[in-house]
Amino acid sequence: MPDISFNCPKCDGNLVVDAKGAGMELECPHCKDTIIVPQHVGTDIYFRCGACGASLVIDEQAAGMDLECPTCQKTIPVPNLIPCPFCGETIVSDAIKCEHCYKALIEGPSG
Ligand SMILES: [Zn+2]
Ligand SMILES: [Zn+2]
Ligand SMILES: [Zn+2]
Repeated sequence: MPDISFNCPKCDGNLVVDAKGAGMELECPHCKDTIIVPQHVGTDIYFRCGACGASLVIDEQAAGMDLECPTCQKTIPVPNLIPCPFCGETIVSDAIKCEHCYKALIEGPSG
């Protein structure tokens, strides 16, 4: 089960909890307030717009579909998701480097 990463709604501090904690109450380690862990456990896709280079984050359900870039308004394809061959985490198929283990996925043209 993947961990849930979210920001505390009270203090905006970043929290990472086990997916089993979804929907449960938790004491924020930053502000000590009691907050509810969100249910969202889906993977977000992080990628760059091929037209303007803007960083985009969208839900994994949009993988392989077309999206209108909010920055340049061009229609761009959302990359598909593949498991990283090194760490098994979900990454975009055209990623140059794994977001999770930072290993290079594509060799340079000169080898
Ligand atoms: Zn907090
Ligand atoms: Zn763009
Ligand atoms: Zn990896």
